[in-house]
Amino acid sequence: ATPRVVVVGGGAGGATAARQIAQDSEGAIDVTLIEPSRTYYTCFFSNLYIGGFRDMNSIAHDYATLAAEYGINVVHDWATGVDRDAKVVALAGGASVPYDRLILSPGIDFVEGSVPGWDLSAQTRMPHAYKAGTQTALLKAQVEAMPQGGTFVMVAPPNPYRCPPGPYERVSMVAHVLKATNPTAKIIIADPKPGFSKQALFEEGWQKHYSGMIERIGPDFGGENTSVNAADMSVGIDGEVIRADAVNVIPAQKAGLICAAAGLTDGDWAPVVPATMQSRMDENIHILGDATQQGDMPKSGFSANSQAKVAAMAIRGALTGSRVFPARFSNTCWSLIDTNDGVKVGATYEATEEKIAKVAGFVSDTGEAPELRAATYEESIGWYAGITADMFG
Ligand code: FAD
Repeated sequence: ATPRVVVVGGGAGGATAARQIAQDSEGAIDVTLIEPSRTYYTCFFSNLYIGGFRDMNSIAHDYATLAAEYGINVVHDWATGVDRDAKVVALAGGASVPYDRLILSPGIDFVEGSVPGWDLSAQTRMPHAYKAGTQTALLKAQVEAMPQGGTFVMVAPPNPYRCPPGPYERVSMVAHVLKATNPTAKIIIADPKPGFSKQALFEEGWQKHYSGMIERIGPDFGGENTSVNAADMSVGIDGEVIRADAVNVIPAQKAGLICAAAGLTDGDWAPVVPATMQSRMDENIHILGDATQQGDMPKSGFSANSQAKVAAMAIRGALTGSRVFPARFSNTCWSLIDTNDGVKVGATYEATEEKIAKVAGFVSDTGEAPELRAATYEESIGWYAGITADMFG
């Protein structure tokens, strides 16, 4: 019988793995992709949508090509559980899908109670916009509706979380909008972390482009002691209550719920074997992307895509005997600070027994020439085209 690979989650990790296996196995493996959404909005470049550099349509993708050209069986449903002994995935619609190898790439869910006063029922007033689409549109609309001189508050997440520079790129894009339409507005970041990704680059850019607009309250000043009240749009920071006009709450995060439902987590995340991305708890299951605990890679779309290629190669090797090369991983996180002011941080990685280990890295410098920053932004546009082609064909 043709071996069956089932992939749960059609995002950066799952869609890449499904397409890669279907393409390279040329019919020798039967691939099913389970994803509830018919349209996937990339979180990557969703901040650029908030800043007005992209429209929503440009970050929307569907699964039609994966089905039509790659022969992938795309099922729009939720996976609700995994029977690991029977090797069957249960779907919300009632079906059961058998597998020889299962890939889980469900992304993140939020840790309940991590920001007192906030739960999913508050997301329509205080959006997280950390899963893209309607949440991102809502946040942008709220920024645009702020009164002159109004206040935007971001409650930033603790480590580890999806896209380390993401909150700070978002602040840059909100500031870009406000500078043009509402220059006396204020942005406050309540941050539980002492430092953050590309901090020197962001702080330099904020000083240069948005002087006086952005205030970050770190843990030394109570930034880790934050609560919100969605009913009256207030934020408490270390006992002081601030009335806000737009509030972006990015809660603490954990592996997508299906990982815990399948018994594959240790604490909040799902540990994996670096060389193959197999779960440490079940060799028939590979886990990708944000949900994993793997070592040194940040939780990014680039990382998930890179891990997907390693897993696809390992799975083809196991199921069809194709050649398997040593695992190599790479990542770059680009961020746009203002028009044509792009910065990046990235690294290459290898698999050790213990973890995905960083080999060598690079980061933009402060004080770089505008031409270099513009070139870095151009590079990110090329990357977006590449990764979405990898995912959706
Ligand atoms: P996702 O891409 O989130 O895919 C998970 C999929 O699984 C979803 O489609 C979901 O519907 C589905 N799913 C979940 N549970 C189930 C279930 N039970 N059954 C079936 N399907 C399920 N990364 C970059 O590399 N570059 C960037 O510039 C960048 N910018 C970002 C900006 C922002 C504002 C944010 C929030 C993130 C950004 N990221 C960026 C991070 C990137 O979006 C994630 O790291 C990446 O999407 C992770 O891929 P994944 O496959 O783990 O999860």
